[in-house]
Amino acid sequence: MPYRRPSDTEIVDAIKEALRRQGIVNSQRKMRGLVLKELHRHDPDYSVGEVRVRKLAIRNGLATVITRGRSSTQRTVANSCPVCNGKMRRTKNLTLYGGTVNMGYKCLTCGYWTGLKKRVPTLYVFEPR
Ligand SMILES: [Zn+2]
Repeated sequence: MPYRRPSDTEIVDAIKEALRRQGIVNSQRKMRGLVLKELHRHDPDYSVGEVRVRKLAIRNGLATVITRGRSSTQRTVANSCPVCNGKMRRTKNLTLYGGTVNMGYKCLTCGYWTGLKKRVPTLYVFEPR
């Protein structure tokens, strides 16, 4: 099957159009499907992955993405956000004794948060901005 990779700009335009028509989109798979439909108006051989759509939507400020998640037993690796690759900041709580304790991490870009045990994303909701 022929396959062509659309540019970031083409995907961004398709995301805008999909959100304008649809409003809130309550799953990443659905979001990708809608974006693909828009892209296919321009070229029926275009393809795009769910992750690329999600990251472009967040990085270009097109949608607020709410991440639902479940807890896991893995430790959180505090480097970049699994949702959007943004920077994560430590979330701290004051202790009774005036010190602070690390509670987990929060993404400065999309708001994804996790405890010290990794919170694995299970569902993404896209809200147009
Ligand atoms: Zn993020």
